Amino acid sequence: MNYHEQIAALADLLKTCRPAYALTGAGISTESGIPDFRSPGTGLWTKYDPMKTASLTALRRDPARFYELNLTRWTSYRDCRPNNAHLALARLEKLGYLAGVITQNIDGLHIKAGSQRVWEVHGHLRTCRCTKCESVYPFDLLVDLYKSGQNPPLCEKCGGVLRPNVVLFEDRMSDEFFTATQVLSGCQLLIVVGSSLTVYPVAGLPQLARRVVIINRDPTSWDEHAELVIRHSAGQVFTDLMAALGEPLEE
Ligand SMILES: [Zn+2]
Repeated sequence: MNYHEQIAALADLLKTCRPAYALTGAGISTESGIPDFRSPGTGLWTKYDPMKTASLTALRRDPARFYELNLTRWTSYRDCRPNNAHLALARLEKLGYLAGVITQNIDGLHIKAGSQRVWEVHGHLRTCRCTKCESVYPFDLLVDLYKSGQNPPLCEKCGGVLRPNVVLFEDRMSDEFFTATQVLSGCQLLIVVGSSLTVYPVAGLPQLARRVVIINRDPTSWDEHAELVIRHSAGQVFTDLMAALGEPLEE
């Protein structure tokens, strides 16, 4: 099957298996300027060991260092804009082709793109919480405190260290993950976009769906079980898909 046949096959699957779900990983956001964690050489985690920088142990052992290593990267996500893949998924939901998006990303780009049903299984950067009393604050407060020289940023009620509402290494999975497993159980079609499906337990989610489509630049562990594998950039695939469905994205 050539690329255009693959796009036509994906359009047919979406028409016959509606509503589908999407599962997205870092690869959908690289075209929005967010580096992929695992690409060899350029991936962030080939430079920084995540067990040392974005883990619960790192936060507990040396919270000031934890913020020095992570906060610039996190705040840079807030300036990024959704690309055609994010915009197409939001549009497909409005058109009734898609029931929702499960994402491993913490960049918030699906919500910025207008998707209504989004399960952010690794958390997000809109809020933070106190590690002692669990009070929840806007993430901006944490950033403002850090920029004003308070590192680590502290809870104004109890003085506990604040932490972002993202799932760190060694954290338990979010409630959103458990909801995602429920909605995916027995679903007709799951479209995996930009995930190499290497991080468990998220990597186990495709087995819940009846049919799986993979859109990823590189091979994944699920390719041989998938109905359709498209090794191409997500932005291009979704631009072409929307044209094939007769619902082209506006320029
Ligand atoms: Zn507190």
